[in-house]
Amino acid sequence: MAKDEVDLFVIGGGSGGVRAARIAAGHGASVALAEEYRLGGTCVIRGCVPKKLMVYASRFRDEFEDARGFGWDVGEPRFDWSVLKRNRDTEIRRLEGIYRSLLQTSGVEIHEERATIADANTVALASGRRIRARHILVAVGATPSLDPPIPGGELAITSNEVFDLESRPDRILIIGGGYIAVEFAGIFAGLGSETTLLHRGDKLLRGFDEDLRDGLGEAYAKRGIGLALGTTLERIARDGRVLQATLSDGRTLPFDAILVATGRRPHTAGLGLEGVGVATDEIGAIPVDLHSRSAVPSIWAVGDVTNRANLTPIAIREGHAFADTVFGGRPTAVDHGLIPTGVFSTPEIGTVGMSESTARSRHGGDVVIFKASFRPMKATISGRDERTLMKIVVHGSTDRVLGVHVLGHDAGEMIQLAAVAVGMGATKADFDRTVAVHPTAAEEFVTMRTPFVTKKSVAVG
Ligand code: NDP
Repeated sequence: MAKDEVDLFVIGGGSGGVRAARIAAGHGASVALAEEYRLGGTCVIRGCVPKKLMVYASRFRDEFEDARGFGWDVGEPRFDWSVLKRNRDTEIRRLEGIYRSLLQTSGVEIHEERATIADANTVALASGRRIRARHILVAVGATPSLDPPIPGGELAITSNEVFDLESRPDRILIIGGGYIAVEFAGIFAGLGSETTLLHRGDKLLRGFDEDLRDGLGEAYAKRGIGLALGTTLERIARDGRVLQATLSDGRTLPFDAILVATGRRPHTAGLGLEGVGVATDEIGAIPVDLHSRSAVPSIWAVGDVTNRANLTPIAIREGHAFADTVFGGRPTAVDHGLIPTGVFSTPEIGTVGMSESTARSRHGGDVVIFKASFRPMKATISGRDERTLMKIVVHGSTDRVLGVHVLGHDAGEMIQLAAVAVGMGATKADFDRTVAVHPTAAEEFVTMRTPFVTKKSVAVG
């Protein structure tokens, strides 16, 4: 029999909500959780995980081509979208099941329906039931934004629908210059779609180190991705099965799909927050304090709905910290200060800490840059025209490493470990003392001795 009163009601079964529910239950709280779509949330169902599977799929093209230089005859590889989609969807269903059983074994009661806030201590379910809760945690995440509306905008898809496409579009237009646009441009180009990436700015990935931005732009151009920079989409019109996109530069171009990835907005509309005195900000985010508490003491919020740092590992930390604070007797605040991140473009990006321009704006001339741009060893025999870029930003007077940036294979894997060192306050001398792992690309981090190294010779022995 479902409970009418619980210690904690979590609205949203994504990364942050599930973690909070499980940890709170582990602390002895009675917990219920509502999810209106699928357990696992954006990351598992239509974000990080299925995206990464598609990134893997898209990179086989390079592998097949490169294999020839190493003596392999791989014939004419053919790609079947339906096989990828089926296997990906099966894996996502498996993960969804794991999320469900994790909640169930923790004793969390699951309501697979929409929940809204009726008052500071009551949740109303779509089925009409009302459940009293000592605490309510809002973990509803964010949803793709389609601002500003343009004529024919409803013909475009977002990162929600992209996973439902039944076939690979032969020609795709992707709008945006952020994580999602850049990642999907790499995916579709790798899978063989003629890909155009349109962005209002003059470079991709605003906020990232300029060398990474330049390097990615060059790499994408080399990979045959059409870059329409400093351009906006003005209108979309259907012409039979084709979508005609009119751009601000006056061109009208035909596409089979148009993906809009111009940011995400907190999913708070209609949740009942205003009625209980939780005012949201101009984009709909819930303002919270260090412990994720809103202006109403019994209502808390974690993850993308708070628009602090919109990344899964942060939502998980915030959910865990909330549960420890409220039910574990251990007030815990999440440090949002140093957040490493990966962009799963091809080539990939890994970054932690300050970009060169941020460091210079804070420390003026007291910044030393170490840079290496080299052809990765594998590309020597494969003949692939690509570069790896690695960069360390150092505070001159203290020798402290302020930022580490990578563009190239396994950048995300590399940056995870570099982030440990940067988080510990490593100096450039600490990097220099570390013995290289040879032959790797990552060894460049510990062998860069001279500011602005530009060339790596392929070492022998
Ligand atoms: P981002 O905020 O990363 O990028 C949005 C992009 O859209 C920017 O290039 C922005 O341009 C552009 N844009 C915004 N509004 C408009 C507009 N009205 N017209 C034209 N262009 C516009 O959002 P995403 O949608 O790519 O991703 C959402 C979030 O998901 C990210 O913030 C990230 O935290 C998370 N994410 C993380 C991933 C990872 O960790 N690998 C992968 C995917 C998503 P401008 O730069 O000029 O503002």
